[in-house]
Amino acid sequence: MISKLKIVMRILVTGVAGFIGSHLCSSLLGRGFEVWGLDDLSRGDRGRVKELEELGLRFVRVDIRDRVEVEKALREARPVGVAHLAALISVPESFEKPDLYMAVNVEGTRNLVSAANEVGVERFVYASSAAVYGNPVRLPIDEEHPTKPISPYGESKLLGEKCVLNEFRGSAFSLRLFNVYGRGQNPEYAGVITKFLERVSRGEPPIIYGDGEQTRDFIYVGDVADAFIQALTSNLRGAYVFNIGTGNAVTINQLARMIIKLAGLNVEPIHADPRPGDIRHSYADISRIKSVLGWQPKIPLEEGLKRLLENLQSG
Ligand code: NAD
Repeated sequence: MISKLKIVMRILVTGVAGFIGSHLCSSLLGRGFEVWGLDDLSRGDRGRVKELEELGLRFVRVDIRDRVEVEKALREARPVGVAHLAALISVPESFEKPDLYMAVNVEGTRNLVSAANEVGVERFVYASSAAVYGNPVRLPIDEEHPTKPISPYGESKLLGEKCVLNEFRGSAFSLRLFNVYGRGQNPEYAGVITKFLERVSRGEPPIIYGDGEQTRDFIYVGDVADAFIQALTSNLRGAYVFNIGTGNAVTINQLARMIIKLAGLNVEPIHADPRPGDIRHSYADISRIKSVLGWQPKIPLEEGLKRLLENLQSG
């Protein structure tokens, strides 16, 4: 009798208590992967980890700055792939504590890459950021656009990316995420969508900094999770950089109008002074990932906003 052998892929996700890491983990578990999650719980949500543990997550509490503990966790987990999302993510905080950002985002990444090499991990997928580009010199932004970060955060993400691409011995993927939105974004560092939705769900008008004609590329967290999974399961060999966005530029004024309409409110946005250092226009060219990996976003902005608003209103 031939027994059916089910091969389960084991993935280790860092930053699993965070916004994107927890969504990725839940998608992986839903698709039958075996998932180990690593986080130091300095910023994430312990409650979310508990929920994921009930679905099968194996959680390890480790600070990625601790090289010995990182290697111990990887030796125990022995994953085929690592999705590395643990990081400090606040641009303003990075100006106050640049050394801390370098330690976590660069040294932490180096620790993971060298431990992953030690234990023979095959694929490493790194959460990079559109912040590595700095002020765009051309639009849309493709992956060959110059990288000139304008904050210690952006600098630390770029150095982390270089470490992954140059030092990881298996297949390396750096996903440069544009503006990610979805349920469970850290309120302290939440992007404009979470802030607008919170205000309209209290019946208050959104606050727009500046004239609102600045553009952004908003990508739904579920689509981002799919991009990670496609990279983690691809057969590509080598080192790759991909933009993760929608390729659509949306002005902050358009976004505010869309959210007000979805909430059924009759208010006008409030305009406040522009924030110094805000990038004027940013949107991604996503043709490389479409052609090389076959990934493309599935959730249109209006649909993603509707899901989020329903979520906020229901609880
Ligand atoms: P988040 O703050 O919600 O999650 C980050 C997680 O990393 C937290 O759970 C935190 O506890 C953990 N962490 C921090 N320091 C750690 C350490 N020393 N050791 C172990 N764990 C540690 O952030 P997020 O929005 O989910 O972002 C995830 C990744 O995506 C980050 O690498 C970020 O740079 C990148 N990114 C996010 C966006 C976005 O729009 N949210 C855009 C571009 C890039």
